[in-house]
Amino acid sequence: MPELRRDPLGGRWVIIATERAKRPSDFAGTAEPNDTQEDCPFCEGHESETPPEIFGVRPNGSKANAPGWRVRVVPSIKPILRIEGELSRRGKGIYDVMQGVGAHEVLVEDPQHVANLADCSTDQIACVLKAATQRIQDLRRDPRFRYVLWFKNYGVVAGAGQIRHTRSQLIATPVTPKRVKEELAGALRYFQDKDRCLLCDLLRQELELRDRVVLESNAFVVLCPFASRFPFELSLFPKRHACDFASLSPEATLELAEVLKRLLTGLREILADPPYNYVLHTAPFRHQQARAMHWKSIEEDYHWHLELIPRLTRVAGFEWGSGFYINPTPPEEAARHLREAVQVKGVVGHV
Ligand SMILES: [Zn+2]
Ligand SMILES: [Zn+2]
Ligand SMILES: [Zn+2]
Repeated sequence: MPELRRDPLGGRWVIIATERAKRPSDFAGTAEPNDTQEDCPFCEGHESETPPEIFGVRPNGSKANAPGWRVRVVPSIKPILRIEGELSRRGKGIYDVMQGVGAHEVLVEDPQHVANLADCSTDQIACVLKAATQRIQDLRRDPRFRYVLWFKNYGVVAGAGQIRHTRSQLIATPVTPKRVKEELAGALRYFQDKDRCLLCDLLRQELELRDRVVLESNAFVVLCPFASRFPFELSLFPKRHACDFASLSPEATLELAEVLKRLLTGLREILADPPYNYVLHTAPFRHQQARAMHWKSIEEDYHWHLELIPRLTRVAGFEWGSGFYINPTPPEEAARHLREAVQVKGVVGHV
């Protein structure tokens, strides 16, 4: 059983993932993938090679765990947290420990052996977004969980593993992740002070200045953040205030799919198919009375967004030791390059 342990000095929770137990020799280098469609468990026709599916988009009413799907969600075969069991928070001397309970799901984003989501159709990407919202809605019914992180690893350097089949992951955790908590606190402070949403104000200013805006559609904005930590770091926001990604309308889902496709295509164009990660930051679960009270202005103060980082630099000693980041590419310059790339690669007229 995996275990969550808290660092008593910094307060950070760490997952000791026993399912992934590695010996010293397992850490020797990262080989480039050498995979084929024949041995890919995520391709259509190979459904029996994954654990039974949790969710599937099956427009023609095909049976679960059989071909005929557009998107499938299956449990991870190497879960970092386990779905069974109770949290059993306890102390071990001065340490805080929790049983590693959670959910770890893999969202298979295309039935074909496609590596990059940029190569999927807009319609297909919309199916992926729909599946993610449905899984978030379902996972938040479990009172043991406080958050679900939807994220993507693309490329070996970004942690994608040895199989090049486009997929993302959902991990539901029994504690709100530190990064999300810090953002929630920042948003709340601003709201208490000004009675407005920080990110709504930020978007208004960025859209006036435009020097960091990469892409704007009817409902979404993509920009390089003012204090970008990494070169070509990107954030995507809905223009209209919303704290919960899972309440996205069908029209907005389609538009978001177009924006994502355009963005990922542009990124590949100018950075030669870089490895990347993106993560969704959305409101945490508020099912318990106490939590609903704790986050009582969240509907107004928090604004969901997607953060994307191409993995072009490595975190080194200074970053690790200080929490500072050194970014060699000014975000204004990154935005200019990206703007040109996404404009050339037109996907739809109105974006
Ligand atoms: Zn495949
Ligand atoms: Zn807002
Ligand atoms: Zn964020």
